[in-house]
Amino acid sequence: MSVLTTAGRLGPQERAGAWAALDGGQFDVLVIGGGVTGAGVALDAATRGLSVALVEARDLASGTSSRSSKLFHGGLRYLEMLDFSLVREALHERDLMLSKLAPHLVTPVPFLYPLTHRGWERPYVGAGLALYDLLAGRSPMPRHRHLTRTAALRRCRALSPSALTGALVYFDAATDDARHTMTVARTAAAHGAVVRTSTELVGLVMEDARVVGAQVRDAEDGRTCEVRATVVVGATGVWSDEIHRMAGVPSPFRVRASKGVHLLVPRAAIDSDTGMILRTEKSVLFVIPWGEHWIVGTTDTPWDLELDHPAATRSDIDYILERVNAALRVPLTDDDVVGVYAGLRPLLLPPDSRSTATTKLSREHQVARPAQGLVSVAGGKYTTYRVMAKDTVDFLSDDLGRSLPDCVTAEVPLLGAAGFAEAKGRASLVAERTGIPEATVVRMLGRYGDLVDEVLAPATERPELAQPVPFASQHVMAELLYAVTHEGALHLDDLLTRRTRISVDTPHRGVESARPVAELVAPVLGWSAADVDREVSAYARRVEQEIASQQAPDDREAQGLRSQAPEQRTIVGAQRETRPFPDSSAR
Ligand SMILES: Cc1cc2nc3c(=O)[nH]c(=O)nc-3n(C[C@H](O)[C@H](O)[C@H](O)COP(=O)(O)OP(=O)(O)OC[C@H]3O[C@@H](n4cnc5c(N)ncnc54)[C@H](O)[C@@H]3O)c2cc1C
Repeated sequence: MSVLTTAGRLGPQERAGAWAALDGGQFDVLVIGGGVTGAGVALDAATRGLSVALVEARDLASGTSSRSSKLFHGGLRYLEMLDFSLVREALHERDLMLSKLAPHLVTPVPFLYPLTHRGWERPYVGAGLALYDLLAGRSPMPRHRHLTRTAALRRCRALSPSALTGALVYFDAATDDARHTMTVARTAAAHGAVVRTSTELVGLVMEDARVVGAQVRDAEDGRTCEVRATVVVGATGVWSDEIHRMAGVPSPFRVRASKGVHLLVPRAAIDSDTGMILRTEKSVLFVIPWGEHWIVGTTDTPWDLELDHPAATRSDIDYILERVNAALRVPLTDDDVVGVYAGLRPLLLPPDSRSTATTKLSREHQVARPAQGLVSVAGGKYTTYRVMAKDTVDFLSDDLGRSLPDCVTAEVPLLGAAGFAEAKGRASLVAERTGIPEATVVRMLGRYGDLVDEVLAPATERPELAQPVPFASQHVMAELLYAVTHEGALHLDDLLTRRTRISVDTPHRGVESARPVAELVAPVLGWSAADVDREVSAYARRVEQEIASQQAPDDREAQGLRSQAPEQRTIVGAQRETRPFPDSSAR
């Protein structure tokens, strides 16, 4: 088992300790935003010996980092744009995750690329995929292969024979992005970073036009405190402009939000042994195997409404169904759609020419110093978060007034990775010991790696924790308990939407499981019976509004419906009186 385990714990006790450390504390680096970029920056800085704090306004990965296509990939589209260095970099990161940093969380996925033209298309796509393999260098991934039409239909029986003339198969990798981001944040904590969720930046502390710290607010109870830091790093994705407004400086870059929607359908709805990448007029549509489901997406439309709750519309869903159905023998219908989610890409527009800030440009992401003591990072893609973090921390030495050791994160496995291979070998023993089906244990290994023993430890004394979650039998109750004792979950939404994906991978979208899960975690989180009721009804209301918004014809109406069910943490913050978290003896 990993020696860093206890140190990477994000439970109620650590949460209380983190507040005490923030309040009046002084850090080298204060990171704002607990998406993959901020978590990556915190890990990079902590492993270079800096004192680091990270605050996230809502939950880890509650922004874009839980709503992506979930691919660690080089990006065939960038290849077509001839951006070879970007593709090489992304493929390198993909393979590093797979082989060393997160082999428990990242899985290779075969993609079938159907050809629709005779003649030119096979050599064109074949040359592209050969280059893709070449740019990956010495990769653990299998190389691409050509398939005849008959062989392609044998692998992907769901394809309509008229939709292809032949095919190729190539490999990329997929992850559960929310769990991956949370694990990066926990790994940062294991290396000494103070990590606190439901903790929002509300103001910057300035001295002589220099940022010297921040005011943060606990979104649960409304307390505020001042945190001092030599440098504050903004890693807030589509919310980047807010921090520049707080500093009273022009934004060094302009971030535009672009909405992308995905659908989840059961594996049985598409009879195939491989994922698919389908060409659309503007881009591509992925069909990605994901547990017992396929993720199908995505869309790409500008979004200039409220950023907290992007909503999918009827037309987004129709667009995806129409595009995927063009390739399928038996079309998908609304009845096949189990879950829907929408996210916002933080796209960078060309730098604002009026800004005088120092800007370090790369093709994909930007790191800038809009004010002394304030560094902002935005753009990029999930796959290259580690490179973004490295570039950001490299950039901090001026602010810190000293040179920094080289980045070491390429050598730092995420929590759960170190003993993953051995843990895999013990799957049947764990199943025998706990009575949990072996298939469930294997699935848990892909979520916790070598931490699986730690997740299941309380089940030794409380056998009910080895039981399936009611109406979500893909999980056992111990996982939900672990999410609040070790993974920083504070609300039903965190538990059902990000620590698990019960909100999108069950037809009831988590509503049926909400009460038993709330009752399980209530003693740890200090919830009264009234708090349980409030959590359950707020969750049900959120699901109801989300489903209603998915019937709305346009973004404005969908957003209006969705925002009628705001985040539970703000409701609790407004209604519950301040009360310390119980200590760990309640667990
Ligand atoms: C539809 C879609 C599909 C995608 N697919 C892929 C893919 O397959 N592969 C890939 O490589 N990339 C993909 N991406 C891109 C990738 O998801 C993003 O680049 C990445 O997740 C951005 O992470 P981030 O940390 O910068 O932003 P976020 O994840 O949005 O994190 C920013 C965080 O800052 C917090 N925050 C905001 N304001 C404050 C405040 N005042 N105080 C404290 N915290 C605050 C937010 O709550 C949020 O959690 C996709 C994106 C989308 C939208």
